[in-house]
Amino acid sequence: MDPLQTSIEYLKGVGPNRADLLKKELKIFTFQDLLYFFPNRYIDRSRFYKISELPKNNSEVQLKGEITNIEIISQKSGKRLVAIFSDGENTMELLWFRGYKWINQSLKKNVPYILFGRINWFKGKPSIPHPEMDLESDFIKKPSQILKPIYPSTEALLSRGISQKVIFNLLINLFQGLKTNLAESLPEHLIKKYNFISKHQAIRNIHFPKNQKSLSMAQERLKFEEFFFIQLQLILKNNRRKKKIKGFKFKKVGDGFNSFFKNNLSFELTNAQKKEIKEIRKDLGSGGQMNRLLQGDVGSGKTIVALMSMLIAFDNGYQSCLMAPTEILAQQHFQSLKNFLINLNISVDILTGNSKKSHRNSINEDLKKGKLNILIGTHSIIEEKVTFLNLGLAIIDEQHRFGVAQRAKLWKKNLTPPHILVMTATPIPRTLAMTLYGDLDISVIDELPPGRKEIKTYHQFDSNRLKVYKFIKEEIKSGAQIYIVYPLIQESEKMDYKDLMDGYESISRYFPQPEFQISVVHGKMKSPDKEYEMNRFLKGETNIMVATTVIEVGVNITNASVMIIESSERFGLSQLHQLRGRVGRGNKQSYCVLMSNNKLNEDAKKRLKTMTETNDGFKIAETDLSIRGPGNIMGTEQSGILKLKIADIVNDNLKLKIARNEAIEIVKKDPNLMLNENKIIRKTLFAMKAYKNMWNYIS
Ligand code: ADP
Ligand code: MG
Repeated sequence: MDPLQTSIEYLKGVGPNRADLLKKELKIFTFQDLLYFFPNRYIDRSRFYKISELPKNNSEVQLKGEITNIEIISQKSGKRLVAIFSDGENTMELLWFRGYKWINQSLKKNVPYILFGRINWFKGKPSIPHPEMDLESDFIKKPSQILKPIYPSTEALLSRGISQKVIFNLLINLFQGLKTNLAESLPEHLIKKYNFISKHQAIRNIHFPKNQKSLSMAQERLKFEEFFFIQLQLILKNNRRKKKIKGFKFKKVGDGFNSFFKNNLSFELTNAQKKEIKEIRKDLGSGGQMNRLLQGDVGSGKTIVALMSMLIAFDNGYQSCLMAPTEILAQQHFQSLKNFLINLNISVDILTGNSKKSHRNSINEDLKKGKLNILIGTHSIIEEKVTFLNLGLAIIDEQHRFGVAQRAKLWKKNLTPPHILVMTATPIPRTLAMTLYGDLDISVIDELPPGRKEIKTYHQFDSNRLKVYKFIKEEIKSGAQIYIVYPLIQESEKMDYKDLMDGYESISRYFPQPEFQISVVHGKMKSPDKEYEMNRFLKGETNIMVATTVIEVGVNITNASVMIIESSERFGLSQLHQLRGRVGRGNKQSYCVLMSNNKLNEDAKKRLKTMTETNDGFKIAETDLSIRGPGNIMGTEQSGILKLKIADIVNDNLKLKIARNEAIEIVKKDPNLMLNENKIIRKTLFAMKAYKNMWNYIS
């Protein structure tokens, strides 16, 4: 057996109790897991402070000196151990509130210590609670700790004495016990090309960096390696899928498509739309199953692309469906597709949670008989009862609202899986998409239909509300319609509802009937009522739409040109961008006003500033990613792929691209990794599969 697969329990310094903790808290089961347990940061310990020069903040510092006195002090609040530490010139207190009995026994007076900890200032005096103490004589024997690694930890570990020092010592023991160097995991040709250090050196340096340079070299190599193996797996998986999974072959483009294009399409397609339709046509005709992610900023015209793809399915005798995340959006798709398809003899229907039973039944009948060509709907479409005669293409709109599981359900609607097109307006930065949806082909509509004006975006504090109302009045007078949106965040639904209602009242006062008409739509309303209100607004019967975020996705009302977002500091960036995308759809100059209170934290400031500075969804997504980190981007939580050990999708973007290109080239040249030069890659992939805790294994 590979000695690195030895249970962690048997490492010198561990034993059964600590092993349990390491397994439970850190998922460290074997020696190898510990080797791949990387520090998440390093602290520069090249400097020793004098007490008199300690910085006046709570930073972590290192001092050299001796303990001159130790005392246990009992107070009402509990006992604590206080040691007086002297650097030869001045003294300060070291404090322990936990584990002080044991500390009391082990601390030695009047011998040189190296001390490390976080300063605490109280009434102008520094102290350090729970410092890490090393006898100077021990300290100099250990591997250099100029860059001190800091490992992820948990409360449970700390309270049971597994400190940074303990982990560090375990790693020392592990390395000392190694009989041979760690096996290489990258092929010679890559190591040479990029001048990488060996695997053994890299892992060693990541735990015990001698200096900044050796640390950087270790990081370079390990980050590359992590990205490389993720990308390699995704590419191999995608290739396998393309080969194995046969799809319906849509050979021709026929009457449906052609007469729509000739007679019904009232505008010129943008080049990006044309390119996309071409690409999809190629996929659909290839004989393999299409699995494509179509990204396009709000308003870029994805719906037409979806429709024309469905027409290709129709022309080849297949049914298609389009699934949207909300009732309103499904309704809107239904209306606009019906309009687009007028006089074409193609049947379209809609199925949602609110469809009447009789309607459901007739839909099901028509689907089975093949009488219904296109079905629009919400989640209701994926219910098992809904069966098609021959579903050839399934489209998911606003993909980020759906989980992976739902995509999988659509797959199963047929024996031969239908072609799948997922569309999203939440632009996922390409690099993230590559990691996240590596099993999908990705394409982007990177162009808006002509004539769209940049939406002018302003940030206003609540104290300026009257000014904003005045502006609204002027816009209404010039014929515009206005959205006023309130946040709806699940945990405080009640409060949000109250906000909305209070807001509605003050708006009604300022914009009185009959001169002004106002619609309200919120989550607590019944669907028919919502629809009624939406329709009044759509028809231009009302000037203002007061709404919660239910209108966030997809809604398309071209005459609405002003978007007021209340409590905008509570929205995430991509949500703000989505909301803003509801305006700017017609030819009128559009505006978005972000209302907020005066107290904003740094992140909120950055979000609002970004919004006022750019309309570019991809730029916004990149900023969002950098503020929140990839784990929080909608839809990424389930993927699990993103729990990277060392690389960072945002900061190591370039490395990701390089690693991906290498993976592509290697697979192109050697699709099954059979060449001798790639033997090590094969071996590493095999090891990754066998030992889950190495790099991410994608099953
Ligand atoms: P999204 O990509 O956000 O789903 P839509 O498909 O709803 O965007 O399109 C937004 C609006 O732009 C719709 O009214 C649509 O009819 C219109 N549109 C789409 N493509 C074009 C085009 N090439 N030229 C002009 N208008 C277009
Ligand atoms: Mg849309």
